[in-house]
Amino acid sequence: MARMPGATWRPVPNFRKGGQLQVRGLVIHIMQGTLLGTDSWFRNPVSEASSHWGTGRAGQLYQWVDTADRAWAQGNGNTDWLSSENEGRSGQLLTDDQLDRNAEIFAWIVQNYDDVPLRRAAGPSDRGLGWHGMGGKAWGNHPDCPGAPIVAQLDEIVRRAAVIVGKKPAPGGSNGGTKPSTGTGTTTPARYKVTINGLAYGYGAVGDHITTAGKALVAKGFGKHYKAGPGPTWSDADTRNYADFQRSLGHTGADADGIPGEASLRKLLGTLPGKTKPAAPVYEPFPGAAFFSPGRRSPIITAMGRRLVAEGCSAYTQGPGPSWTNADRAAYARWQKKLGYTGTAADGIPGKKSWDALKVPKQL
Ligand SMILES: [Zn+2]
Repeated sequence: MARMPGATWRPVPNFRKGGQLQVRGLVIHIMQGTLLGTDSWFRNPVSEASSHWGTGRAGQLYQWVDTADRAWAQGNGNTDWLSSENEGRSGQLLTDDQLDRNAEIFAWIVQNYDDVPLRRAAGPSDRGLGWHGMGGKAWGNHPDCPGAPIVAQLDEIVRRAAVIVGKKPAPGGSNGGTKPSTGTGTTTPARYKVTINGLAYGYGAVGDHITTAGKALVAKGFGKHYKAGPGPTWSDADTRNYADFQRSLGHTGADADGIPGEASLRKLLGTLPGKTKPAAPVYEPFPGAAFFSPGRRSPIITAMGRRLVAEGCSAYTQGPGPSWTNADRAAYARWQKKLGYTGTAADGIPGKKSWDALKVPKQL
């Protein structure tokens, strides 16, 4: 399952669960209407229509259908292509914001699916960025979707996506070239674990450090095998991305099998993560009963007051603040009574035992 970060998730009932057989790329459409009108149309089962994403002319970005599921946007092209509907009418141009949104969608697809090249697609059996009309009758015969002006903008969407991905657009595509896929990732990659500085890496390893490594791979442009994630569980996609990263360092053979070594990990992260114990909370030590006297001003008193409020012992009409007041003393007396003290033991002047029990956090 995949939902694109940054898109507003607005699920609709019109889709085929798990029906996305493969992803060749993104198909651009025009709504012939508004974003909100389309949103309600896709919610109506009678329409039998939907798309994965939709953009508004002001730059809104909706995701209506998960990319694991088949949207109903372009006939026979639905099984192999993801889809973007765009607010407006055939003959108009996409707005600058819509160009950006579609570039973001296309960049995300290139980064998350194998074998989607960063270029325009020449036709339904090609890969890359396409448009509805290119599918002809098999795709429902919509030669004017999204319309010639927008088809002429597809190169600009590719250009902007390339900036996001941080790579040059791939050759071929719009001139009719059908570059064969590079055939990445059809065999199972290495599936063993290593321990580096007390932390496990490799297939099945789990933890925040896996997410951190995955995000670092994405940031360096080695995220194209992720269909979900990265993290927190190390998957074959992590291994494949890591192998790409190792090859970029000049590693070959077993040194580029996608399982981290200490040197490559240090290069990826700039540092070597290790097991860290959670820091124990630090509390203010008891400053002595004499500390709590009229005229005393200290951030400790504010911190104490906040703890008293949190314990349900507030006697404050304003504050708590840094100056020791009668309200502090009344509140502290309530705390002492809550602990079971009575009489002069609950006079509102802190003692060590009640202070330690209050656990006033130290301002670090
Ligand atoms: Zn269309």
